[in-house]
Amino acid sequence: MRSLTASELLGAWEAGYPHTSAGRALALLGAAFPERSLGELARLPVGARDALLLALREGTFGGAISGLVACPRCGEQVELAFEVGDIRVPSGPAAPEVLEVERAGHAVRFRLPDSRDLAALASGRQPAGPGQMLARCVVEARREGAHVEVRELPEDVVGAISSAMEAADPQARVELATTCPGCGHGWAAGFDIAEFLWREVEAWAQRLLRDVHTLASLYGWSEEHILAMSPWKRQRYLELVGR
Ligand SMILES: [Zn+2]
Repeated sequence: MRSLTASELLGAWEAGYPHTSAGRALALLGAAFPERSLGELARLPVGARDALLLALREGTFGGAISGLVACPRCGEQVELAFEVGDIRVPSGPAAPEVLEVERAGHAVRFRLPDSRDLAALASGRQPAGPGQMLARCVVEARREGAHVEVRELPEDVVGAISSAMEAADPQARVELATTCPGCGHGWAAGFDIAEFLWREVEAWAQRLLRDVHTLASLYGWSEEHILAMSPWKRQRYLELVGR
């Protein structure tokens, strides 16, 4: 991974802006991993994608993460603070492209969910529902050797597929054991690096544009010139102009 310049990160923000979460994550990764094509990045299983997003976050904004999450019982805002290293799953061998589960007379071949699936489900072009992701990912389902529709798969077969997906791509699901200091309720809070990193990039970009606006207005410098300055130097000029 290359560390991104201010100009490159701003470009990725602009490229990702019109998209839903999956497309935004791809825009960030496309800038950080130019040696990989967007098609290749889009086909990465969600957990493998998230491992790259975590590396990008660590290289761009550092490893410490903090945020607020609402207690599901009393609604109080609870602070979460952890390190990227705390939620990083050690990378194992890449999962096979097609996995297989045999359960209760059923044999199901399927692939892991990737960014194309997330984007398709978020686009609303397909009716969203719990079975939609499965329908996209199942390659072939058979019962006693005969073809069977995904929607006809029994619950325990669906559960076995979910478990196999999770085991093959463990970084896709990050949960943090959390306790509410207000009411004592304990729960596993989910953490989505794609959403989180995008919000950070957005806040960073808006601050940066404001700074460019300030310096360009006062000194007449170009955006390119201002972005090429180190953040440290930019900040010194902003202090001089009282911002
Ligand atoms: Zn609470």
